[in-house]
Amino acid sequence: MPNPVFASLPTTIFTHMSALAVEHDAINLGQGFPDEDGPLAVREAASRALIDGPNQYPPMKGRVELRRALSAHARRFYNLDFDAETEVLVTSGATEALTASIMGLAGAGSEVVLIEPSYDSYRPIAEAVGATVKSVILKPPHWRLTEAGLRAVIGPKTGAIVINTPLNPIGRVFDREELEALARVVKETSAVVISDEVYEHLAFDGKRVPPFISLPGMRERCVRVGSAGKMFSLTGWKVGWVTGPRALVEVVSKAHQFITFTTPTALQLGVAYGLEHQIDFTLDLTRELQGKRDKLAAGLRRFGFDVLPCEGTYFLTAGISGLTNEPDTQFCERLVREARVALIPLSVFFKDGKPDTMVRFAFCKKHDVIDEALRRLEQHFGKKHA
Ligand code: PMP
Ligand code: GLN
Repeated sequence: MPNPVFASLPTTIFTHMSALAVEHDAINLGQGFPDEDGPLAVREAASRALIDGPNQYPPMKGRVELRRALSAHARRFYNLDFDAETEVLVTSGATEALTASIMGLAGAGSEVVLIEPSYDSYRPIAEAVGATVKSVILKPPHWRLTEAGLRAVIGPKTGAIVINTPLNPIGRVFDREELEALARVVKETSAVVISDEVYEHLAFDGKRVPPFISLPGMRERCVRVGSAGKMFSLTGWKVGWVTGPRALVEVVSKAHQFITFTTPTALQLGVAYGLEHQIDFTLDLTRELQGKRDKLAAGLRRFGFDVLPCEGTYFLTAGISGLTNEPDTQFCERLVREARVALIPLSVFFKDGKPDTMVRFAFCKKHDVIDEALRRLEQHFGKKHA
């Protein structure tokens, strides 16, 4: 019999909206991927590695060049020390890093705590390993994490807590006060924290993203997940990683060895080159995306979207109550046909599908693509309001 966790799931909203975007020749501000590939030098480094070889299995934990580069990156940006031999694991994308972490660190009978809105891959994996999912639900417009909210769901049965900062879809960067509240609650339990920090460099207005693992007492209680796709605008490469204390990385590696075992050598070497020589690309990308966020936000406000604050990620969220009475999914499915702009309904990031009055826009797109999307929306909403 098929596993009911997966058998009952629809195809992901990202695939669904991207398919509708193609069908209706729409501008795709739905699925979060940049429409310009990252640095040529990084792609050249990978292509050289592909031609020169070797092209056989790399080590299970990843090429040492990349593990060392990741360790140096953590030291440079966060003053964190990870032993490249034992505390760094390379995976096939952050998706696999998260899967291996949830599989390795939580199991049947335990509870996995998610912060909603939450990225779509966490829950099915937690449920598939037999854990029970408990959620902390954040409330708009400030979406703050509170100690009381955390205490209501974290307890002796909690195996793992998955957090994401900067947070897809709402662009929150949890501040120290919020992270300290989580650390206080975690210390009273035996739970570990899986911190999805794939947008670690994509925080705007000079904001820093404190890695959860850097909080006092959390060095042995947390694994950090990262993604080269986000860092170097190479989302199709699917190179990710887990860093953390040896004891936890070791167990996560045991899961990884039976999920993918390893990750293509050439791409690992390309990313190692990027971390060593092209990190300025990542830092420039943050400035560039901030400008795009501001352009999109200003345009959307003119048409009546209630734009919410966005501190980081590729994504901007906005309320649609001033424009329609439709639930967000219906609104997005109509907009892609009528205005030819594809978005993501925010309700898909909540287990019970509520609130359903907001949508997510991806702004990791070329300026002229954002301009064209705004022109189409102006035409659409201008006509509607005439
Ligand atoms: N976590 C979050 C919050 C994401 O937005 C994404 C994006 N795709 C991932 C994980 C997965 O990253 P990757 O493409 O490296 O698997
Ligand atoms: N993380 C991307 C987003 O949030 C999508 C990745 C995917 O399609 N699975 O849009």
